[in-house]
Amino acid sequence: MISFEMPEKVQHTVNLMTMVAENMMRPVARHFDEREHEIPWDYINFMHDASKQMGGGSFVPGGEKPRKEEAPDKPKPPPIGYQRLAYTAEILSWGDAGLYLCTPAGMLGAAAVAATGTPEQKQRFLTRFGGDKPVFDAMALTESHAGSAMPAEVRTTAVRDGESWVLNGEKIFVTAGHKALVDSEGFIVVWATIDPSAGRAGVRPFVIEAGTPGCQVTKLEHKLGIRASDTASVVLQDCRIPFGNILGSPEVEKKTTEGFKGAMATFDASRPLVAASALGVARATVERLKEVLEARGVVIRYGLPRSRLTNLERELIDMEVLLRSSWLLVLKAVWMMDERKPNNLEASMSKVRAGDIVVRITQKAVELLGPLGYSREELLEKWFRDAKINDLYEGTGQINRLIVARRILDYSRHELA
Ligand SMILES: Cc1cc2nc3c(=O)[nH]c(=O)nc-3n(C[C@H](O)[C@H](O)[C@H](O)COP(=O)(O)OP(=O)(O)OC[C@H]3O[C@@H](n4cnc5c(N)ncnc54)[C@H](O)[C@@H]3O)c2cc1C
Repeated sequence: MISFEMPEKVQHTVNLMTMVAENMMRPVARHFDEREHEIPWDYINFMHDASKQMGGGSFVPGGEKPRKEEAPDKPKPPPIGYQRLAYTAEILSWGDAGLYLCTPAGMLGAAAVAATGTPEQKQRFLTRFGGDKPVFDAMALTESHAGSAMPAEVRTTAVRDGESWVLNGEKIFVTAGHKALVDSEGFIVVWATIDPSAGRAGVRPFVIEAGTPGCQVTKLEHKLGIRASDTASVVLQDCRIPFGNILGSPEVEKKTTEGFKGAMATFDASRPLVAASALGVARATVERLKEVLEARGVVIRYGLPRSRLTNLERELIDMEVLLRSSWLLVLKAVWMMDERKPNNLEASMSKVRAGDIVVRITQKAVELLGPLGYSREELLEKWFRDAKINDLYEGTGQINRLIVARRILDYSRHELA
């Protein structure tokens, strides 16, 4: 049964992350926004130690240290890994969304391994987050000619050669690509086709580890927001990786896209986490807006009929309603993920909604505070810039709306494109 209460075991994580967000992220948020590409090592090292203390592995389920065998008759507690992750993403993004993306504890690449990897692959790739040094991961789908159309249009190839795959192609806009491949002994998950004639059915994710010859970071982007996070281009030139680094089946069944659908489960895991991150920025904005207004004597009179409220009070209450209702969608999507229930609809729904409202809320906050909202004196203008990415990556708002519509109407991608 789904519960909207925070699981007791998540509370400890939430307390620790709140402390980190307040003391280690907020005070340096402006610094790293203004110094794009400077690496926030203090935050990274602290989070690395903290994640080790909390279980020794990735935040993503599957990377924890193996537990001691429990008595077989002891009932297992319900899984809460993705719920914990959603709360973590929300709180750390409340601290700073760009710094959150620098967390060395398993992000989108790890989510792909957790969602689609074998137990052996999870052991091999996810437990490294608990090693001596911080490690990063990334997920690389986008190519210069194809973002939304990526799965059908992918040009990066993976060709089997004995017990290896050889990859060629270029990926762009890879979040944390530099940290994963250059600044740590991490990995990136690259989407490539094993059979270009098979279209989507031939597309698979592959894990490429840092230091693999033929895999090179060639560019770092300069961005509007989330500027503490690196966004890299990665070129693959005869990049040879072990056969066992493919996530999912190496066979292509041309008449079905089952293998490809398995790979798409990655997004069912990662989209609710992007939504949670967006809502962290939105919550930071609503809280700060209320503080500033309260300091100026504007106190919201909850409980009064709407017709007796000022426009400002109505705007603020509407923001809170959007925020809370959107969080419920995230909770449902991650709870389904934990329960291993199909959550494709809920994952996209939570992402569409959160991507939308974070833009609306941050824009409205800048507007309501006028010059102060626009000024660098406050972080509100930064949050306005940080917000938009949530409506772009991991599927744009339009693409996730299409997925939601197809699911609800039971249309295929050909019937509703
Ligand atoms: C800061 C940043 C970080 C990123 N990180 C990553 C990452 O880690 N890994 C990764 O692989 N990618 C990443 N991306 C890329 C991102 O996922 C893509 O930009 C996104 O998927 C859109 O693809 P595109 O840029 O090719 O736009 P297009 O696909 O060309 O879309 C352009 C516009 O057309 C709309 N559109 C396209 N198709 C349709 C349709 N059928 N119906 C209606 N509207 C449509 C889109 O919604 C969009 O508004 C990142 C991008 C940014 C900016």
